[in-house]
Amino acid sequence: MREGVNIMTDSPVYTINQARLSIIQGDITRQTTDAIVNAANSGLMGGGGVDGAIHRAGGPAILEECKRIVARQGRLPTGQAVITTAGDMKAGNVIHTVGPIWHGGRQGEPELLASAYRESLKVAAANNLISVSFPSISTGAYGYPVEAAARIALKTVIDFLGRATSVSEVVFVLFDSPTHDVYTAALQEITKGKK
Ligand code: ADP
Repeated sequence: MREGVNIMTDSPVYTINQARLSIIQGDITRQTTDAIVNAANSGLMGGGGVDGAIHRAGGPAILEECKRIVARQGRLPTGQAVITTAGDMKAGNVIHTVGPIWHGGRQGEPELLASAYRESLKVAAANNLISVSFPSISTGAYGYPVEAAARIALKTVIDFLGRATSVSEVVFVLFDSPTHDVYTAALQEITKGKK
């Protein structure tokens, strides 16, 4: 694993095999990656936080496709992922996943959070996508502690990028500066001694 710094943003960039993992502060609805991931809820009907922002920015086409998916296969279980159009946004697609609600950590939350990241990346790979942006799943309304969530998010993505996959660029797009700082510190901690 190699460490570097993006000279435009000062943000860390890590290379795993041929893949790049970076962390930026920003608005995921403005990303131009092949997919942006939505921290949705099981009903896929939109909501607050990043979910609301994505539906507002993308327009009604996303909700229409979400409704068709739910009509076909029912509510999306926690830890699973599905793909739709990105509507009016510049990104190619939206991958909707459902992170766990934090209940104290003993109800399978770590495994379900890892699953949300892994299943999103599997959906991206199944669609031959190259670049994917993630928000900080579960750490808003769902209450998952950010430090613990950041470690799981980064480890799961690093593990996935270490295997053969079409996905070769993952960007964590963190909305607020405290969350950005926690993810940056967690990445430094995880990659310490692995360079
Ligand atoms: P959850 O219900 O999974 O906790 P939330 O949307 O409440 O999802 O929060 C997840 C994270 O997404 C929080 O860190 C929140 O600040 C962040 N967020 C909200 N809007 C955006 C956005 N436009 N781009 C990126 N991240 C966002």
